Amino acid sequence: MGTVSINKKEKLTEHLASPSVASLSHSSELNGVRLTPHFTLGEMTKTKYKTKDGNIPSHVAIENLKRLCGWLEMLRSEYNKRYVALLASLRWQASGARARQAQGPLEEEPIIINSGYRSWEVNKRVGGSSTSNHLVGCAADIKCYGKEQALRYAVILLDIADESREDFDELIIEVRGSRVWIHFAVRPKGNRRKVIFTIK
Ligand SMILES: [Zn+2]
Repeated sequence: MGTVSINKKEKLTEHLASPSVASLSHSSELNGVRLTPHFTLGEMTKTKYKTKDGNIPSHVAIENLKRLCGWLEMLRSEYNKRYVALLASLRWQASGARARQAQGPLEEEPIIINSGYRSWEVNKRVGGSSTSNHLVGCAADIKCYGKEQALRYAVILLDIADESREDFDELIIEVRGSRVWIHFAVRPKGNRRKVIFTIK
């Protein structure tokens, strides 16, 4: 498994470096900006709340999002490597299908982000904490299809931390009724490796 690597030399455009002047009409072009191969700025800033600030992150928050997406890329790749073929074959067996080959090539499963960066305004609207890692682009809520997937994601994230010898700040499995997600955070420094399971 690779280590977490962030391309610090990569320069953002003036446009991204000056979010205060970026107007809402520019947000669709910002949305397509790739932070890493499989994660875009749009995915990491999406929110159902329409706020005046357009939920556009600062230069520093974007650097934090890139670091976080480096971990999400490894999670995506490792999850697919470990589980996708196994889980597909179990599903096929359960459905009575005979040969795996008959089903065609396996498609990679994406990692779905419910919420990444949140401006003060958005964070207030969602009832987030005033010290939330989401405010600085250091946290993402990863959608999980059930508790089993959440546990598999969590194991992979722990393995990535140990193998890369880089720490994360928070790994919180949240279960609210039928909704399950992982709040995962990585800070530039001072990572606390908080692992929590919450059921409400
Ligand atoms: Zn969160």
